[in-house]
Amino acid sequence: MILPILIYGHPLLRKRCLEIEKFSNSNKINSLIKNMYDTMGKAQGIGLAAPQIGISLRLFIIEYNNFYKKKFKQVFINPKILKIYGSYLITKEGCLSIPNILENIIRKNHLILEYYDENWKKYKQHFNGLLSIIIQHEYDHIEGKFFLDHISDTKKLFLHNQLKKISAKINPNPINPNTNNNLHF
Ligand SMILES: [Zn+2]
Repeated sequence: MILPILIYGHPLLRKRCLEIEKFSNSNKINSLIKNMYDTMGKAQGIGLAAPQIGISLRLFIIEYNNFYKKKFKQVFINPKILKIYGSYLITKEGCLSIPNILENIIRKNHLILEYYDENWKKYKQHFNGLLSIIIQHEYDHIEGKFFLDHISDTKKLFLHNQLKKISAKINPNPINPNTNNNLHF
């Protein structure tokens, strides 16, 4: 099932997600994963995290054809970054939750990730290059962060109005936890 993707400004995207319990209902987790693949496919994304469809759990998926047309497809449950290292890479990143904004983001090239797949098989795996970048982007989502959190304050200021518009248009009634109702006239 294709689900709506939450857009920047939605408070759920700023929440740190919870771990999935190993003995939680596997039908529910499998249908969540299927919905995520459907939604990501429709949106032509290469990665999607559960909070982007409104589920605050530590789960993301990646499906991506590399330069040599080799397919990488993986479900990451309860991922943990054990180490980030190596030289810096600058990648132009975009996000399904922040339409029409692409920014150069600096991240390290290598990481070691511990995670489970959909069958609860545990992995400890090294990733580098673009895959390492995509994983760091998705990992940000389950930590309640966005790729734009990594840009300079000057750039943030520059994007401020555009982000405000994105947030207001697509989330007409964002629940802002900082809103003080007393200030409403
Ligand atoms: Zn994203």
